[in-house]
Amino acid sequence: MQYAIYRVAAASVAQATDELERNGVQWLRFGDDYFCCAAPSTDWNGLRTSSIGSSLETRESEGVLLYLVTQEGRSFQQAHPDIPVLFDRGRHIVVSLDRPQADRISDHKARFSIRLATGNAVVFETLTRPIAPLAADPRIKSITDSISPSDFSATLAQLVNHPTRHSLTSHFREAAQLCRDRLQSCGYEVTLQDVQISGARTLNIIADKAGSGSQPRSVAMVCAHLDSINQPNPLLPADPGAPAPGADDNGSGSAGLLEIARVLKDQSIMQDLRLILFGGEEQGLLGSTHYVDQLPASECARISSVVNMDMIAVLNNTRGPTVLLEGGDPVSRRMVEGLTAAAHAYTQLTVKTSFRPHDSDHVPFIDKGVPAVLTIEGNDKGNESIHTEDDTLVHIDRDLPIEILRMNAAFVAAELGLQTALVG
Ligand SMILES: [Zn+2]
Repeated sequence: MQYAIYRVAAASVAQATDELERNGVQWLRFGDDYFCCAAPSTDWNGLRTSSIGSSLETRESEGVLLYLVTQEGRSFQQAHPDIPVLFDRGRHIVVSLDRPQADRISDHKARFSIRLATGNAVVFETLTRPIAPLAADPRIKSITDSISPSDFSATLAQLVNHPTRHSLTSHFREAAQLCRDRLQSCGYEVTLQDVQISGARTLNIIADKAGSGSQPRSVAMVCAHLDSINQPNPLLPADPGAPAPGADDNGSGSAGLLEIARVLKDQSIMQDLRLILFGGEEQGLLGSTHYVDQLPASECARISSVVNMDMIAVLNNTRGPTVLLEGGDPVSRRMVEGLTAAAHAYTQLTVKTSFRPHDSDHVPFIDKGVPAVLTIEGNDKGNESIHTEDDTLVHIDRDLPIEILRMNAAFVAAELGLQTALVG
């Protein structure tokens, strides 16, 4: 089977899409790259003589059907090293399989999903920075300026110091205690919520700060999973005792949450703020699923936004500090616009967006119709270290997590009424 890769200048996307469709090509777009699938009517020769022909690179594959895989780290590739990858953009890859093979590789609940690549679709967008971004608000700017690289690093080092934060270990409970104490010392009201994992127990840590606006108030939420795991191949069982420093996944998001807690603790906010560190994420989003399941409909309706941080600290792309904002469509659209506006006003981040939510704690919220967005390091290639003993501080970038925290803190501050809305 023939397929083609085609890279287009960002300004020419609409024209390129027209050209491909006129020539009977089915496409998946990954930022500026088109993965072009041959349809029976595909006229490659016509395309080669068209305006886009010179940069169209055709290739052959043995498989008959194309599948789009969304994966955590390189979990699909680690589980199926024998399957050739036709196109690799880290979290999203394209593989070709025959149908029986695809049926055998059922979706792995907590690590990757595969779906037949049919029709034309945008997998993710890479946004261009506006010429005139929103002007920074001085009050918000003072918050984003107070995000401290040294505090973040010190907290992350403390979390990584636990041999593992596997949800069923005493080490996880020690890390949870550390986080609870820290949130309490910042003045938050902290509760612990029990979560069941196949007969055993882990917990979520929930920290609240009430707004001073009149009722009814909305609640802006920030979450991250505190647990880690050592399970490079998701098809093999995890050993809870194996070393799992989880520096990026997800010490980075957890330390980030504590940093956001610190910079917002003395702000007088209009709406309510709730921060949650989940347990049981690595066993299949158990902490967040339990949290969402027990939430009354009236409480769900109060949630204006859920910013989820999961892996925010490893720079694994060629464009410099990049964030992927991943939400549901249409439920997370307003949030994605607001986070993008915050990124452009308060950071130098390149923003990618995707409306294919997958495998982190934003998903149970989106499934229940609650606006939620995953903020995760952008990647041109999958992070190979996560879920191994190699997920250590060595790989942590200095700037990327701080930039993502600035974006998130600015967005949440606006949600809490510290600034007029970032988007209408
Ligand atoms: Zn994670």
